[in-house]
Order: sequence, then structure tokens, then C-alpha cells
Amino acid sequence: MLRTHTCGELRPLHTGQSVTLCGWVQRTREMGGLTFIDLRDRYGITQLVFNMEKNPGLCAKARELGREYVISASGIVAERSNKNLKIPTGEIEILVSELTVLNPSRVPPFTIEDNSDGGEELRMKYRYLDLRRNPNRKNLEFRHKMAIQARNYLNSLNFIEIETPYLINSTPEGARDFVVPSRMNPGDFYALPQSPQTFKQLLMVAGFDRYYQLVKCFRDEDLRADRQPEFTQIDCEMSFVTEEDILTIFEGLAKHMFKSILNLEIPDFPRMEYNDAMRLYGSDKPDIRFGMTFTEITSHVRGKGFKVFDDAELVAGFCAEGCSGYSRKQLDELTEWVKRPQVGASGLIYMKYNPDGIVKTSVDKFFTTDELKNLINVFQAKPGDLVLILAGKCQHTQEALGALRLEMGRRLNLMDPFNFKPLWITGFPLLEWDDETNRYYAKHHPFTSPKAEDIPLLDTNPGVVRANAYDMVINGVEIGGGSIRIHNKELQKKMLNVLGFTDKLAQEQFGFLMNAFEYGAPPHGGIAFGFDRWCTVFSGGESIRDFIAFPKNNSGRDVMIDSPAPITEAQLKELNIRLV
Ligand code: ASP
Repeated sequence: MLRTHTCGELRPLHTGQSVTLCGWVQRTREMGGLTFIDLRDRYGITQLVFNMEKNPGLCAKARELGREYVISASGIVAERSNKNLKIPTGEIEILVSELTVLNPSRVPPFTIEDNSDGGEELRMKYRYLDLRRNPNRKNLEFRHKMAIQARNYLNSLNFIEIETPYLINSTPEGARDFVVPSRMNPGDFYALPQSPQTFKQLLMVAGFDRYYQLVKCFRDEDLRADRQPEFTQIDCEMSFVTEEDILTIFEGLAKHMFKSILNLEIPDFPRMEYNDAMRLYGSDKPDIRFGMTFTEITSHVRGKGFKVFDDAELVAGFCAEGCSGYSRKQLDELTEWVKRPQVGASGLIYMKYNPDGIVKTSVDKFFTTDELKNLINVFQAKPGDLVLILAGKCQHTQEALGALRLEMGRRLNLMDPFNFKPLWITGFPLLEWDDETNRYYAKHHPFTSPKAEDIPLLDTNPGVVRANAYDMVINGVEIGGGSIRIHNKELQKKMLNVLGFTDKLAQEQFGFLMNAFEYGAPPHGGIAFGFDRWCTVFSGGESIRDFIAFPKNNSGRDVMIDSPAPITEAQLKELNIRLV
């Protein structure tokens, strides 16, 4: 090897040893007759010293080195007189006797420091330089540790990691597919998997019993901070299990991760029914680090002559503790906030319960003082509190109120990223109605099993059928989700029919799976975790990009390699593709 040690390794006990280090020039300083270089590699920084008096040629050479030059330096380890106790190698330095430039470097386009001066786009373009910075390096090391611990836990329970194909078929369900033309089969296309769902089920039919895979998934969706077109799942499946078994085993995984990565003992996860999550938090991924749960007041406020309340399917609100002092301006600001298209409320109603006991609201003229006092009691507000109320269509109002609750949580600093509050959401509806296309969609995916007792309802009232599905949520982020699967051909066919598939189309698209169910498919179920997200939440971060070595930007582009890009005429021809 070109080096004897790394730049993070040497200590006073190495004093007197002859060593060779390799790395990048972080910084050069001159002080009197001495030149100091901070040499950096993945493991740390070590100070190199060159003495003008003792070795003028070598010292002059050192002074020539630019930032990010790659060098090799040999010399003797010496204890420093001026120790830097902030870094682990700060008690020693290397008295260099030999210096080799392994490769020079152009001046980097931004500083390779913990706080870089480079903008986001520039750093993305030179991602390989950005990755030299400590925060990014640490994120990828963190991700690596997370992967090891996830594998450790699953391996210890007899799970086996099996790879499934990346070139599969496009299916009309779920998100949009990325497709890949097939040269050898003109006019045919592969699609990249949105998840290995059907393959892991087939592995259960094959008898593998406990499967997992850290696997790339591809979804052609519009991007948000926590979305990337390609992302990684910890994908898992088990045979001969009930929902309860899955929740136990994978709560175990999460607890193992909390313990091994963050050294936290987390008590048993609470469980919440989907309907309760919507009713109390306006979200199927509630952030339970703080309260401010909703109270419905529809029946209390109807018939008082206020049209907004009279016309509403739901009137509900929550109590923001200690916020009665909010000024007109702050309330106007909140009103504007809920009216933004992303939230979509038509207005905001407030009730201030002033510390002196007086109730002041934006709907005073429709209610008597007693009625207002009564409402305040329904919210269990205390003097000094502020009640915020929205009204409208049920789900829309719940969701808007949910967004407002989170906004208040942010404003009131109730969302400490290191206060971890995981929970399970269960009892999801099987289906979701879409007004635009006038049909049901699978809330989870078409392979999710309905609750046994709800199966007859598939024929009569599919909308109320509950699924054997569950999500793991940590601090308002959906970390994972899964379900017990259908393992019976007839039920699978029925489910596809409810989703609008004819028998023929169902057979064409999912015949391979339904046929497999006729050859002894065991009852099975599973879950998949968003691995990038999990890393992000565990490290208190915000964007999954920080945990992906080479992420795409907001338009789905890799600005470093400038992808996606056109292909040549010859390639198009070979692929039988004509651009219009
Ligand atoms: N395949 C599902 C998903 O990607 C997870 C599961 O049901 O296991 O969301």
C-alpha cells in the first residue's frame, strides 16, 4: 500500500515512528520558517510540518501545493508542543522528510469545508467534491451502518436476501413506470420495478418463507423533498404469518435500529386505527410528538346563521396552548397560510381565550357569550389558549387542519427531530374512490388482502372494506408500509375486478401471479421500509438526498452526468423508436 497509516489514526503513542500518509491538502499555513499542511482523508486530518531551515527544497515544494492536491508524505511522528484537542490527531504532527505529489488539483469550485460556500446546484454538479465534505461523508457512513444493522437483525431471524429483476413489466396500477425499450423484441418495453412486490410473493410460493432485500425501486413521480425517482427499500416478506406477527417482528427491527444506531430504548409502539388518525390528526401519518388533537364541533355550531358552518360536512379545530396573544397580523398570516393551494382551506376561524377569561372570536356575532364559553369548554381550552377552526368537506377539512396543526407545531417548536415517537397505523381502507376517473383504486396495492370479515362487502359496498394493511410512522414520516396478501386466485381476481380489470385484462397483467396461487401458495404478508427516509429521520435530517450518494435534482436530473440525455439516431433505430 502507498501508506502506512490513515490521517485519522496517529496518536502520541506513535511518537518516533516512521510513517507514510496519503491524502488531500486541506489547508497550507506558513509560520516563520515552518510550513504546515492539514492532510485530509476519509478518516481525519493530520498536520504535516516542513522546516525551511532544515530542508529548504522540500519546504519550498510544500509551499507550492494547492488545495485538494493529492500527496503522499513520509516522516517521523512527533508530539506537538501546541496541541489541538479538538481533533483526535491533534496531539501529534509529522516531521516530513519526503513528499510526492500523486496528482495535482484544479482550484475546487467551492470550499471543501463543513460549511461550504458552494450553492446547491454547483455542489450537485461536482458531487464527488461535495462528498469529500465531512457532513456528506458522515451521512453515507451512517447509511452504511443502518444497512448493516438491518441486515444483522433480519439475518438473525432466518431471513434470506434474494435479488429480484430490474427489468420487468409495466403495470397500470400505482405510480408511473420508467420504461426501457427492448432491442431484441421490437415494440416491446420493460419497466423498472416500483417495488419487487409480485416477485417477493412468488418467492413465498417458492417456499423461501422469510425474504428481504435492500433494493432499488423506481417511480416516475413528481419530486418533493422526500422523493427521488430511484430510491431504496428494505423489502421484506414472510409466510405463515398474521398481521400481528408482522407488526411484532418489524417493530423488533425498528427497536433494534433505535438501539444499535442511536442507543435508544423505545417502548412498545402505540397503534392507531386509520380512522382515528384522520379524525384526531388529519393525517394517516400523524406526528405524535405533540398533542393539539382535533375536536369536532359540527353539531354544536350548526343552525346559528353562519353559512360556513351550516354548509359544512365537518367543523373541527384544535387548541393551541398559550397562543391567545396572537396578534391580528399573526392570525391574518395563518389565514393566508391555510388558504394557499397546497392547504386549500377557504378560511380560518379563531377563538381567543384571553388570560382574563374573555372569549374573543372571529364569529362573535353568530353566538351568544354563553355559547362561545361552551365551545371553549368543548375544546378544553384554558385561559391563554387559542382555538383554530376549519370547516368544509370532511376529509379535505381534516387534511387542511392536519397541515395547520403541523405548522403550529413548527411555530411552537414542538418538533424536536431527536424526540422519536414511532407508531403503527392499522385498519386502512382497502380502496379509495377517485371522482375523476370514476373508479376505485387500491389504497395500498391490488395484492393487499381485505380483512376476512369484510370480504362479503366487496360485492355490496367495496368502499367500506378494511384492509389487512399497516404503516410504520415515525415523527410524521411514513417509514414503512405493508400488508397481509391475497393468496387465493379467486379473491385476487375479484379484487382486480373491483379495480375495473376485466377477467381478460387481469389474466394478461397478473396471470403469472394468480396461476402461481393455484400451486400451493402459503398465506403470506410483508412490509417495505423506505431506507433513504429512515436514514434521514434517524439523523434528524430533512432531505433524503443527503443520504444518497448521487441523487437527482428537483426535475429528476442528475446534473453531474447531465442525465437524462438524448440518444443517437442509430440507437433509436436499433430500438425501433421513432421520435415524434
Ligand atoms: N411493495 C409495497 C410498497 O412498495 C410494500 C409492501 O406491501 O410490502 O409500498
